[in-house]
Amino acid sequence: MSSRVYIGLGANLGADLGATLTQAALQLAALPGTQVVALSSSWRSAPVDAGGPDFLNAVAALDTALRPVELLEALQAIERAHGRERPFRNAPRTLDLDLLLYADLVLDTPRLTLPHPRLGERAFVLRPLLEIAPELAHLATGEGWQAQRIERLGPLSL
Ligand code: AMP
Repeated sequence: MSSRVYIGLGANLGADLGATLTQAALQLAALPGTQVVALSSSWRSAPVDAGGPDFLNAVAALDTALRPVELLEALQAIERAHGRERPFRNAPRTLDLDLLLYADLVLDTPRLTLPHPRLGERAFVLRPLLEIAPELAHLATGEGWQAQRIERLGPLSL
């Protein structure tokens, strides 16, 4: 049985952020028992609670047979493959992958919180998410996200 999940992709360090996101989407597509069913445009956003240059963001919809923690571990392995270091909280990162939604699962464990805790208040998650899944608009519960600076660039080619 497979489940519909949504992954947030972000990058703000590196020479070609679009190439980083495209490569990450291909790595998601290569996970066992997993298909990419939709990929948003790339969006350029100002860092929120973080330093450094603008981010490039996207959201991917997957159908996967991986269980939630297996999927989280797979996402972290892809982040590590992109050389992500965490010298301090919210440090600039080459690649950040967040598990936004796993079907309609609600979970609050030290390792994994679902839906992702800040999903409803961040334009860089909500704009690309609602681009590919407008039926999830009820998740945009936060205030002020419409005012966050973000710009749609173009399609990410796979
Ligand atoms: P970050 O540095 O923002 O990528 O946060 C990663 C940490 O958040 C890891 O220790 C994860 O175990 C934890 N975490 C909790 N819930 C989630 C989620 N839904 N998606 C990704 N990481 C999560």
